[in-house]
Amino acid sequence: MIYADHAATAPLRPEALAAMLPLLGENFGNPSSTHSAGQAAARALAAARGEMAAALGCIAREITFTSGGTEADNQALRTAAALGAASGKRHLVVGAIEHPAVLRTLAALSEQGFAVTLVPPDAQGVVRAQAVAQALRPDTAAVSVMYANNETGTLQPAAEIAALCRARGVLCHTDAVQAAGQLPLSFAALDVDFLSLSAHKFGGPKGTGALIARRGITPVPLLYGGRQERGARAGTENTAAIAGMAAALTAACRALPQTVPALIALRERLIAGLSKLPAARLTGGGAPRAPGIVHFCFAGVESETLLLLLDEAGVCASAGSACEAGALEPSHVLRSMGVPEIWAHGAVRFSLGAENTPAEIDAIICAVREIVTRLRENG
Ligand code: PLP
Repeated sequence: MIYADHAATAPLRPEALAAMLPLLGENFGNPSSTHSAGQAAARALAAARGEMAAALGCIAREITFTSGGTEADNQALRTAAALGAASGKRHLVVGAIEHPAVLRTLAALSEQGFAVTLVPPDAQGVVRAQAVAQALRPDTAAVSVMYANNETGTLQPAAEIAALCRARGVLCHTDAVQAAGQLPLSFAALDVDFLSLSAHKFGGPKGTGALIARRGITPVPLLYGGRQERGARAGTENTAAIAGMAAALTAACRALPQTVPALIALRERLIAGLSKLPAARLTGGGAPRAPGIVHFCFAGVESETLLLLLDEAGVCASAGSACEAGALEPSHVLRSMGVPEIWAHGAVRFSLGAENTPAEIDAIICAVREIVTRLRENG
């Protein structure tokens, strides 16, 4: 099997597994317990928080552990909306290419009386800072623009948008789920107010993530109960998963000087090979992109069939977002970029990881060439 769907989820790193095992075994205590077993778990939790802070360029207190990227996005936007509403600001600005975790939270907030402006990307799939600036109003509470798009892989000008927001007194959130552990990233340098990440995208376990909220901001709880996470998230912490996430992030960030150029080389090899196929178009070509994400559209081919046949040929890829898989409509990302239907229906995303090899890239190119030719002949 050639696994080329790391943007959906990445294999667990050995460092993550090693960090998790003691917390699933002898160090099983509840970190809120005051006895020695509890305090041993509490120490592991504090160590994981410190490790995450060091890797992310934030302070430990700015981290709230969540159940993943979805929860972190929900909590960031709910917090920003609450802070805005407290000062009479009820307008939110968001990129049109955001993940459903952002878009559907915004839809829920709009039902509660918030006005939402969706900022479309340009044809390359980039939400430009200038377009965001034009959408700002005196009553804008917050802006949310992701760091790297999960479908096309295009990088968004998050730092530029953060600076714009800072200058205009508007809160800024970035969904960095497809960037954390995969690109050099510093919360302090980026200067956003909120950042979301998800462990399973960089080799940590599924069902774990974090919201980083700037010092002085207390995230509004989505869950009520105990006083865990300084009251920002009730419920006994998933200590093993959190330790696994911290170990995965540290290992991923340490390896970045090797993995980023290696992934870029694989990505460019794949882009060069697929570009030679007839009626094939790289999505977001010309825009800066995440090191491992390649998105193509093949005119006259149904992406569901292409993916099925690729799977039969031993290649795991996807049409875009894993959580929207099976949808027969072109994705909201491609639609907002103005990609014509004939192309958008033939969308495929390959997202590469450090364990992929040049030989695997060549095999992917061969498989796509053979399948696309066959489908077009039969179609
Ligand atoms: N945001 C982006 C950009 C994503 O790609 C994903 C997952 O695909 C999420 C949020 C949701 O993260 P999680 O799966 O941890 O809930």
